[in-house]
Amino acid sequence: GGSSIPSMPWFGMDIGGTLCKLVYFEPRDIAQGESEEIEILKNIRKYLTKNSSYGKTGHRDTHLQMDNVVLRGVVGSIHFIRFPTSQMKRFLTLANQKGMAKLVTTVCATGGGAYKFEDDFNKHVNMNLEKCDEFESLLKGLLYIDKNNLTECYYWTNPTDETKCAKVNYDFSKPYPFLLVNIGSGVSILAVHSPTDYKRVSGTSLGGGTFLGLCCLLTGCNTFEEAIGLAAEGDHTNVDKLVRDIYGGDYAKFGLPGDLVASSFGQMNSRDRRSKVKRQDLARATLVTITNNIGSIARMCAIQQNVDRVVFVGNFLRVNPIAMKLLAYAMEYWSNGSMKALFLEHEGYFGAVGCLLQFHG
Ligand code: ADP
Repeated sequence: GGSSIPSMPWFGMDIGGTLCKLVYFEPRDIAQGESEEIEILKNIRKYLTKNSSYGKTGHRDTHLQMDNVVLRGVVGSIHFIRFPTSQMKRFLTLANQKGMAKLVTTVCATGGGAYKFEDDFNKHVNMNLEKCDEFESLLKGLLYIDKNNLTECYYWTNPTDETKCAKVNYDFSKPYPFLLVNIGSGVSILAVHSPTDYKRVSGTSLGGGTFLGLCCLLTGCNTFEEAIGLAAEGDHTNVDKLVRDIYGGDYAKFGLPGDLVASSFGQMNSRDRRSKVKRQDLARATLVTITNNIGSIARMCAIQQNVDRVVFVGNFLRVNPIAMKLLAYAMEYWSNGSMKALFLEHEGYFGAVGCLLQFHG
């Protein structure tokens, strides 16, 4: 603690229900010299910035890397790394082999895994976990990244028109108040009024984990990327029952358009329809069901909290423009244009970055 700068290396970790997010601050200038400490630091850098280091399940998101940022007065780069939380034991073994345990005595961590794996960190790599609060980290990380990246925040314009649809930069420098919807394995919704005035107002267990779990069950796919790929080629109207399937057209009296889903998966009670449905259609319907449910809950929270900007984050939105555009459309349409759905480039990494910022060594 105190005001002294903690010794390198600096990490932040968010150990979630599905993915472990690891951010690493690489100083631009590593001190010259030949001490053992400097050698290990160089080794860690070499290892972490080499793409071949991550095996089949780990990934470094090089497109998200941030260079020349200042952290505690030190200039450097932030690297973004993720791997499945199920691989935690393997990660700890590797950390041991690379000599990290020698230098790293404390890692700042958040997410449920900071509790679940605490003993493993202590025993296997002799590291202490400095536990940070999940929502405090999320918010701190978000505000820091947005301040350091001019193109962090954006929205989708013309979300239903493939030819005109586009990402548009959004100035989020005066953010308050806003609703923060974190779509991870599950969903948490925070109302944020200032950096220190926020509360968790709602949540749902029907989240990214539900999408992936149901999609694997229904289509036999095995990865998130595969599930999204299938969904991109599917048509949910072969699975869902629409207003026009029930009314023959719009339900004009109450302003319900014919192509609105009246009953998610509502066609699948028919044996005949089931025999004709494609895996792609089932994947798309699962994505639409989960996404619209989250959008609907978010909208009710925004009304209740009296805020008009809703920021969606979490790895469910990774490589997932279908979900983002659905949310963009739904928020705008059902609020008669008074609410806006906003998105952030570093979608799933804010908790880990918040840990990096709170790290005291
Ligand atoms: P958590 O902290 O609960 O692990 P995340 O924000 O990391 O939450 O999001 C996890 C969700 O992101 C998954 O449920 C899935 O929907 C989606 N996802 C995106 N990329 C992947 C991936 N490579 N592997 C597994 N899930 C992924």
